[in-house]
Amino acid sequence: MKDIYDVVIVGAGPGGSAAAHYLSLRGLNVLLLDKFTFPRDKTCGDALTPRALRVLDEMGMLDDLLKVGYSLNDVAFFSPKGYSVVAPVPKKESRSSYLLFTPRLILDNIILERALVSGAQFQSPVRVTDIVQDEDCAIIRGEHQNRAVEYKARMVIVAIGANIKLLLRMGLLKKAPQMMLCARAYFEGMAEVLEAAQCRFDGVPLPGYGWVFPLSNSSANVGVGFLRAGMTARWMPKTARTVFDTFTQTPPLQKILTGAHQVGPIKGYPLRLDFARSPTFAERILLVGEAAGLVNPVTGEGIDYALESGKMAADHIIGMFSANDLSIKNLAVY
Ligand SMILES: Cc1cc2nc3c(=O)[nH]c(=O)nc-3n(C[C@H](O)[C@H](O)[C@H](O)COP(=O)(O)OP(=O)(O)OC[C@H]3O[C@@H](n4cnc5c(N)ncnc54)[C@H](O)[C@@H]3O)c2cc1C
Repeated sequence: MKDIYDVVIVGAGPGGSAAAHYLSLRGLNVLLLDKFTFPRDKTCGDALTPRALRVLDEMGMLDDLLKVGYSLNDVAFFSPKGYSVVAPVPKKESRSSYLLFTPRLILDNIILERALVSGAQFQSPVRVTDIVQDEDCAIIRGEHQNRAVEYKARMVIVAIGANIKLLLRMGLLKKAPQMMLCARAYFEGMAEVLEAAQCRFDGVPLPGYGWVFPLSNSSANVGVGFLRAGMTARWMPKTARTVFDTFTQTPPLQKILTGAHQVGPIKGYPLRLDFARSPTFAERILLVGEAAGLVNPVTGEGIDYALESGKMAADHIIGMFSANDLSIKNLAVY
């Protein structure tokens, strides 16, 4: 086992990497762990909101992201009967008042690279299986290529997204939270150029929605998400894949996808819906992003909250270290 790190961060998504960047900038000894080697994909709609763009700009990445992303100023909302209204993104700041669509395969790798340039270390693939408390540190246990590994840290940030297994095992969650079931796929070669991102309530079971998020003038991320709770058994779809297939067969989607072909598989992933009801700390631990349930339950956006909470957790840890106070009372202030 190595020396004691100042902070070990479990999960190198936007939340974990943002925290690693801000902690490393302040000279802390930071180790970031992820169960996947990067670049890795994350099933998502790939939409960056102005809130997300603001943090990414502060981290010095916005200009690079603009080179690889596709920006739009408008969102079109479609009612269950197909009526639509177009809403512009409110203009608050010139550098971030729009939506930027960037595949997570690219985005998450850029944020991780930023954290590494700032001084963080990264080890993968390391699947963390437990975090226990020792006298003067936390011990992070995991597996690396079928071998048990252990790390010691003064503080741990848990940023593992919607993978709740570790949280349940550690008792950080008492039961599985309510989840939205989602599925998405990429399409290329669309004939129609979309002037706005689309959020659609037609052709999907409610509560739920479908989306068409352009990634260029001829490609898009298309997906669906729905909530089982509140549906009668008769109308309850079996899987997110079934809902995706039905959605993409509706006349409006067939029109949008004219000439297009699917690239890569349809991928499913859950989305947590327990915003502000989930634990955010435990002894020597802060939770960040979706691991803390920080996803907007109406829009499903979570990259922005992950980045913001990653920064907040870093600031809080820096404050706790300088006050030499890692008490539960001080952790609860986060
Ligand atoms: C289909 C879908 C569409 C979405 N669309 C959008 C959107 O368009 N815009 C938006 O803002 N949000 C969207 N979201 C939400 C968004 O994807 C998440 O909220 C966001 O990724 C959370 O970031 P995070 O850093 O907290 O976690 P993640 O991005 O999930 O990263 C967690 C990391 O932890 C690693 N990890 C997990 N468990 C372990 C372990 N035990 N040991 C080591 N590493 C581990 C994972 O490999 C992963 O790299 C969508 C979600 C879904 C499911």
